[in-house]
Parts: sequence; C-alpha cells; structure tokens
Amino acid sequence: MNKALVLEQEEKKTLAGVRTLDASELPEGDVLVNIEYSSMNYKDALAVTGTGKIVHQFPMVPGIDLAGTVAESDNPDYNAGDAVVLTGWSVGEKYWGGYAQQMRLQSKWLVPLAEGLTAKQAMTIGTAGLTSMLCVMRLQESGLKPEHGPVLVTGATGGVGSLAVALLAKNGFEVVAVSGKADSVDYLKKLGASDVLPRSEFEEKARPLDKSRWAGAVDTVGGDILAKVLSQMNYNGRVATVGLASSFALNTTVMPFILRGVDLLGVDSVMIPYERRVQAWNRLAKELPQEIMDQVSEEISLEQLPEQAQNMVEGKVKGRVLVNPNL
Ligand code: NDP
Repeated sequence: MNKALVLEQEEKKTLAGVRTLDASELPEGDVLVNIEYSSMNYKDALAVTGTGKIVHQFPMVPGIDLAGTVAESDNPDYNAGDAVVLTGWSVGEKYWGGYAQQMRLQSKWLVPLAEGLTAKQAMTIGTAGLTSMLCVMRLQESGLKPEHGPVLVTGATGGVGSLAVALLAKNGFEVVAVSGKADSVDYLKKLGASDVLPRSEFEEKARPLDKSRWAGAVDTVGGDILAKVLSQMNYNGRVATVGLASSFALNTTVMPFILRGVDLLGVDSVMIPYERRVQAWNRLAKELPQEIMDQVSEEISLEQLPEQAQNMVEGKVKGRVLVNPNL
C-alpha cells in the first residue's frame, strides 16, 4: 500500500484526493524513500487548493519537504535504512513530492538527516528553517558581527522570520523584530528578540535615506517595507532579502548603496548546492534551541490536507503543520 494525496486538474480546477499509488505509477529515480513526515508550507497550500500557479503538471503529488528513510537505492552513497531529508529542487511543484507514504526520487536531491535531528524535528523546521539558516550564513559571510549593532527581522512571526530571530539571537546578535501582530511581543521576545516594532512603522513611504539604525536585516516581506529598511541601514549595513510576503516589488533609490555602502544579499533555498545544504542543516541541528525544534506543531494526515491547506490560504493557521502520511 502506498497512500498519497494526488492533485488532478479538471476544467482548470484543481482536485485533491487521497488514493493508493501503484509502484508502476511512481516517477523515475534512483532512490525509493519511505516517508515519515512532510510539512505544509504556504507554497504547498497554494498548490493543494489550486490558488497559485505552483504545480507545473498534473497529476501531481505535492509536498515540497520530506524526511524519511531509504527503502531502495541504486546510488552507492545511499543504503536502505539511511535517514534522509529533501527540500526544494522544485519537488512538489515539477516533480512528485512528500505527500505520500513512499516516493521514488533522485538521490541528488537528498541530504543525510543531520546528526542530532529526528525526521519529525527536521520537518518541524523544514524549508523555513533551512532558509532562515541560509540568511544568517549570508549575513555572517558578508562580515556581519554582533558588535556591529542590531539586526532587524521583518515578518518576524512567520516561518522564516521566527527561526531567523532565534538563530540570530543564538549567534549573539541583538535582534529587533518587526511584526504586524500586536499580540506577538511575548512570543518574539521568548524566541530571542530584544525589542518588537509594529509593522505600521515600516509601511510609511521611505525617504532615500533615513536615520541609520540597523547593522543587518533579514527581510521576508519585500515591497515598501524592504525599501524602508534599506533607507535605515547603518554605513556598510547588510540586508538578506529572502521573501515577498508583502510584495515582489522594490521601489527604492541607489542612495543606501552609494552613500552608505549597503549590501543587498539574495537568499535562495530551492537550488542551493548539496554542500551548502549539508552545512546549513548541520548548523541548524547544533544551533536551533531544542524547545523550538520540539515546538507544538499540528500533525495532520493526508486526508486532512485539503481542509488545512484552505485554512492556511485563508491565514487561519498558526505555527508549523506536520504531515504524517502514515496516520
Ligand atoms: P509565512 O506566511 O509563515 O510568514 C510571512 C510573515 O510575513 C507573516 O507571518 C507576517 O508576519 C508577515 N506578513 C504577511 N503578510 C504581510 C504583508 N502583506 N505585509 C507585510 N508583512 C506581511 O511565510 P514564510 O516565513 O514561510 O516565508 C516568508 C517569505 O519567504 C515568503 O514570501 C516565502 O515565499 C519566502 N520564502 C523564500 C524562500 C527562498 O528560498 N528564497 C524559501 C522559503 C520562503 P508578521 O505578522 O509577524 O508581520
């Protein structure tokens, strides 16, 4: 038995249903993985509900993240029983992904589960965690150090933002969080923020240069908020730009770059090479506080996915959603 959530398209409408897959239906690949956990990211919710143009072809088994053990392998680097993790590579968008009990995959997409992590913890962190670690790595590689001054995180209660707050604090940075949720102050301070600013402060139109306030920033929202952040960077400030929760547009001027030497650092988690993934997962296993990895996250079955995806698209889901295909 290999149960999976399968998306089909009829008259341009996406239909999601759980059914049993025959081994002959599985895509080509050099490794077969028994999936223990997947997770639901915003991108997955868009795919399952058919809200966004995420899925490239139908039928599709969505699920952009997965963790499990190798069942069969044609690649000598992997043996049956090896614990593995997969994020990105357009899996769940172009290629069949994690919402199944078993999936045939390309071994080049996998990384070994980092020592110290369980499959469940890896999926609690998921793409959001990997991405937040990559932001911290970009900032540190650009030379940012705690003594340079405070680091701002926008969209701070989101998956990427909240873990970026925790990781930056763990690395000794003074972290200032920006959130649109008035009731999130205690939560963000518990994660490691020293101060929490309302999003509204950053929604006013940016001047080319504002008073300098920040040595570094992780921006998950883009748009006018990123323009405002850029105008407030210190001399030689560094901004990791990673998301577009507000907008993909960026209406700014060259002033922060040419008068303050500000660096805008792009962060992608989908196509990054193997070595960097392994490095990021190893750092996550060491640096993310245990209580965050074990944070209460909702665990749902494949059958519950369509309803939960709709809830996520409607903004009704808080925290991480773990998908257990064996429930
Ligand atoms: P979430 O939906 O979990 O969080 C986004 C956060 O942004 C929200 O919690 C909210 O935080 C804030 N926000 C939401 N809507 C708006 C708005 N209209 N204006 C300003 N702020 C808003 O998403 P993730 O954290 O998972 O992802 C964040 C972004 O990063 C997304 O755009 C995602 O596509 C992108 N991403 C990019 C990756 C990459 O490889 N580059 C990988 C993973 C994600 P608050 O209420 O606290 O302000």
